[in-house]
Amino acid sequence: MFPSRQLLQSQLSAPLPAAPELVLVTDLDGTLLGGASEERRSFYRWLAQQRERVLHVFCTGRDLGAIAAVLQEDEPLGLSAPHLVIGDVGCTVACGASLLPVPLAVDPIEARWKELEAPLRALLQGQPGLELQPCSSNRRLAYYVDLERFNPGLIDQLEAAGASCVLSDDRYFDVLPAGVNKGATLLSLLEWLEADHATVVTAGDTLNDLAMFETGLNGVMVGNAEPALVSHLPRLPSVYRAQAPGCAGIAEGLRHFGFDYLWD
Ligand SMILES: [Mg+2]
Repeated sequence: MFPSRQLLQSQLSAPLPAAPELVLVTDLDGTLLGGASEERRSFYRWLAQQRERVLHVFCTGRDLGAIAAVLQEDEPLGLSAPHLVIGDVGCTVACGASLLPVPLAVDPIEARWKELEAPLRALLQGQPGLELQPCSSNRRLAYYVDLERFNPGLIDQLEAAGASCVLSDDRYFDVLPAGVNKGATLLSLLEWLEADHATVVTAGDTLNDLAMFETGLNGVMVGNAEPALVSHLPRLPSVYRAQAPGCAGIAEGLRHFGFDYLWD
């Protein structure tokens, strides 16, 4: 049988670290992009120094274009491309260096989306309180939501038609193929990576990160996490609530999980 790590690597344009000691999976907005500039600079510098020891995965609601934009905008702060990217709230997996999609991961989601898109668009057409985001048709539909006008009953209809819905940060409403989310896509990716789950730490700040925290993998809820996410903490025993916001919160969580030696 073709080893899965080899298959994954064959679809990437840059080599993965041979034997990473940590697989760090970070949300972007409010998490890896969160916190004061000095703390961000220092964390990005550390990450850049640890390229062979830390396999870094972005796990974000952003699409590939918006990920490319942030890599360019935050390059002056020292942010480098990760090894791998999970984008579109779990609907896209790409090589971190080239941002080219990984067919192994994306094709099955694409096949499901092809059947779902038309009926879901029909249900969503003209619904109050929803405004389609400009780049939003990558195997999901992404809206800005006005919760005052939004009809929550729509969620049941969309779910009955085969979708999963994620409300996040009181601003974003994502409609995805059922069962696709940051957590499920991450678990598939870890299988292809043949990663030991004990070496994995995830980090996030809003409700679209909840599926990652529900995987049972070690997780860091950063200090600035939204209250709706924090309310789930009591049932998430593998998740550490950091005091510090953003990057400093990720670093605090990594130390909590015993990875402080990576700073030596
Ligand atoms: Mg976030």
